[in-house]
Amino acid sequence: MIFAGMKKIIITIDGWSSCGKSTLAKQLAKELGYAYVDSGAMYRAITLYFLRNHVNWQDEKQVKTALADITIGFKLNDKTHESEIYLNEENVEYVIRDLVIAEKVSEVAAIKEVRTFAVAQQQKMGELKGIVMDGRDIGTTVFPNAELKFFMTADIAVRVERRYVEMFEKNPNTSIDDVKANLEMRDYIDSNREISPLRKADDAIELDNTSLGIEEQLAMALRIARQKIG
Ligand code: C5P
Repeated sequence: MIFAGMKKIIITIDGWSSCGKSTLAKQLAKELGYAYVDSGAMYRAITLYFLRNHVNWQDEKQVKTALADITIGFKLNDKTHESEIYLNEENVEYVIRDLVIAEKVSEVAAIKEVRTFAVAQQQKMGELKGIVMDGRDIGTTVFPNAELKFFMTADIAVRVERRYVEMFEKNPNTSIDDVKANLEMRDYIDSNREISPLRKADDAIELDNTSLGIEEQLAMALRIARQKIG
């Protein structure tokens, strides 16, 4: 078999909110012919379910009951060839990007039962390797033995600007102050929670893309990945 000797690895990309993790992860997966998994989308989908069904997430019993009713899946969009998230067979890729979800997701993602539920599925998706996954705890908790780990950072002003432009396109009522407040709040909760707080794994390569172009960044990451894959 031609590909018998080709090594498949796991690539993790963690970092602060709106650092361009998913942009890099998608590009890397495409170049390498790997699967891309947006772990943040899973926490967002769970949050959407909780909000729609008025689940009180302070109540452990309600959380457990709700999680038992949630099935999350990813499917490729035939037209864009991009992976999209499904919550109980409904495509929720776009609704979960709303600021209403962003305002609650870090609270929901800090819950033990929610993390156990999501992490188990993420680990299963990585069983065959050949995967790029982005999030907050992928290199530390989900795949501590991943062959290649990146940790992304960028100046807060740059991150706010990028996210604002993205959100403004979808909703012209978006305010830059709301976007900034949301990023800061999520970073605070994500890095201070008890379970799997956002941390750079000791063996992660730090990528500061404050003044790095998307193409430059991809070339750099790709070079490192190809060295690892051999
Ligand atoms: O990546 P994204 O910004 O869409 O993630 C939304 C939220 O989901 C994060 O702010 C964080 O609270 C949570 N998250 C997490 N662990 C991950 C990925 C995301 O706690 N691996």
